[in-house]
Amino acid sequence: MPELPDLTVYLERFEAIARDAPLLRLRIGNPFVLRSVTPPPSAFEGRRLLGATRIGKRLVFEFEGEYFALIHLMVLGRLHWKKPGAAIPKGKGLAAFDFEHGTLLLVEHGSKRRAALHLLSGRDSLKAYDRGGLEVLDASLDAFGAALARENHTLKRALTDPGVLSAIGNAYSDEILHRARLSPFKQTRALSQAELQGLYDAARAVLGEWTERLRREAGAGWPEKVTAFRPEMAVHGRYKQACPVCGAPVQRIVYADNEANYCARCQTEGRLLADRALSRLLKSNWPKTLDELER
Ligand SMILES: [Zn+2]
Repeated sequence: MPELPDLTVYLERFEAIARDAPLLRLRIGNPFVLRSVTPPPSAFEGRRLLGATRIGKRLVFEFEGEYFALIHLMVLGRLHWKKPGAAIPKGKGLAAFDFEHGTLLLVEHGSKRRAALHLLSGRDSLKAYDRGGLEVLDASLDAFGAALARENHTLKRALTDPGVLSAIGNAYSDEILHRARLSPFKQTRALSQAELQGLYDAARAVLGEWTERLRREAGAGWPEKVTAFRPEMAVHGRYKQACPVCGAPVQRIVYADNEANYCARCQTEGRLLADRALSRLLKSNWPKTLDELER
């Protein structure tokens, strides 16, 4: 699922390319993508794009007169900037925002259709979409600590909870925890002040560095390669590969729709974290430490 760095670059590029341009037409390629009833797509025609922002992981395109198009890309939704009037690809094409000088296409790869478009009018209508997560790059250490400590959850869950932090998912939570050298399953209320400071610094550094990297990659063009798996990542999607810090193999735990990738040597004092279902299955065969696993 695209997270803060990828979403930021989408928004920046879309603004750079289309701000102030009037929307000629909003075409819907698949009726299921449109999850709102009013205003209709035709109400957006002729309205200039005033800006592109974000509420959590939802992209918000603002058009003249307080008309808003909200897009949630979910896991496999992507945006592409194409030639004016570009055809909506059959099957994966969901919607097209037509401007005189180009078309923004919303597509969704894979077989599931989960990406969502909401059309709204009036700024107040945006409030319903705010899950209240903190924007880490704008937050103070105190606000960050308070958000995490509101409930006692594992760090992995807290970092990815849209009600706690905004626009962080599986990929960047793995990267942030690795940078902070903290276990994904440490409890939020068990953090020392030094660990909290470390996590805050790591979150801001990782998100900032990645945004900068993706911004550089996109340059003056369009970010075409939006993915949660990148070779420069330290642990996310790098199961069994060497941790770039210590060389130990990256570990992975899969649970429900989530997964945690971590380095046992850097983050859990060499302990391997059993996910309960898996450990029941493996019983005594489940190695408890990195040393045991390597033997
Ligand atoms: Zn390591």
